[in-house]
Amino acid sequence: MNPGDRNDSLLLDRYAEVTGPEVIHHLQQLAAPLKGAKVVHVNSTREGGGVAEIMRKLIPLKRALGIDASWEVIRGGAAFYECTKGFHNGLQGIRRPMSQSLLDEYEKVNAANAEELRGRLEEADFVVIHDPQPAPLLSHCTGRRGRWLWRCHIDASHPYRPVWKYLRQWLTPYDASIFSIPQFAQLLPHPQYIVAPSIDPLSEKNCDLPEEELEAVRHRFGLDPELPMILQVSRYDRFKDPLGVVQAYRLASKLTPLQLVLAGGGASDDPEGEAVLDEVRQAVAGDPRVKVLLLPADAHHTINALQRIADIVLQKSIREGFGLTVAEAMWKAKPVIGGDTGGIRLQVFDHYTGFLVRTPEGAALRIRYLLHRRELLREMGQRARRFVGENYLITRHLREYLAMMLGLQSGTEGRMELGL
Ligand code: UDP
Repeated sequence: MNPGDRNDSLLLDRYAEVTGPEVIHHLQQLAAPLKGAKVVHVNSTREGGGVAEIMRKLIPLKRALGIDASWEVIRGGAAFYECTKGFHNGLQGIRRPMSQSLLDEYEKVNAANAEELRGRLEEADFVVIHDPQPAPLLSHCTGRRGRWLWRCHIDASHPYRPVWKYLRQWLTPYDASIFSIPQFAQLLPHPQYIVAPSIDPLSEKNCDLPEEELEAVRHRFGLDPELPMILQVSRYDRFKDPLGVVQAYRLASKLTPLQLVLAGGGASDDPEGEAVLDEVRQAVAGDPRVKVLLLPADAHHTINALQRIADIVLQKSIREGFGLTVAEAMWKAKPVIGGDTGGIRLQVFDHYTGFLVRTPEGAALRIRYLLHRRELLREMGQRARRFVGENYLITRHLREYLAMMLGLQSGTEGRMELGL
């Protein structure tokens, strides 16, 4: 056994401790026919946001199963990210036309990145393109030999039509696309798969932490150990509704003393973060019980600790592709009060693993309801952890990816046999 094999097998053993050995055995069976297959994932940021969070863990796990997986990141300038943020907003329903000069920049940046990546992409067995940023790469890889999949992480259920129409021209030639929930799927002339994202129970973001570490984080941010704490972890993005969270906190704290932490950082492909952060800072100015944190991209332990310290976690998004932050909090046995939208609905079952809300008033009501029913809060948290353990861990995610790749590889339409 060479050292690589030994590390791979140790990694799989560690997952087996969380999921049970049969889950890992199943993954090994599914991965066997794909041994050595070259799989290249492409997105537009190495840190910040859910896609990077998933990539960091999915790639090593695929490699541990014998798949030759790699991760490439395309690069562009400010105008490129302004354009792709426009796509993001447009896919999530914001009706704002895009200028031709931004679209030209998008195409130019993709052409330039294709020059660098073409060799690796054309020889890959599978290429997975994440979100709209790198979508035109396929059109530059005319010698491609593998299957290309477009993986959409965004709530594309009600896109602004001109943006969707523009993007569709790049997506049409793909072999398949993947959406997180059926409601997001769009009309495209190829098979569509529904695969929900996942969290990694072994990552720094989700592993168990000793009480001393929680204490150190409380101390570092001046949190009052006697006061209930509510938390939202998110990029500073209007779809995450941080101002709605502040409003909910204000309403709830009129009758129930509590503290609020908003923890966020930027993603390098998100140019709007600063403006939203300024708005949030203005909204909470002068309230010592609100902490607005701007954390570095690698603050995984800090976020882990904050999620564990919190009594309740909020994710009051008004649009959400999935919301890894929801699964992360639930894995830490926290009930989540989440916006009644997109992928949050997959995770938060109203009155069971948390509450779905539509307004700050609704969120405030649920905050107070739970803080006055500690036993219920604890039970909901336990159910939330079980639910994520059964449905949203990386091992389930990978199993679905492997099954899909096998189906595409076998090329059978409509029917697939897995000889195990
Ligand atoms: N995250 C982080 N630092 C921050 C804010 C978010 O590490 O300051 C992480 C968060 O814990 C989660 C991911 O980034 O793992 C965000 O994924 P999600 O699906 O919730 O939202 P997205 O940013 O992709 O819209």
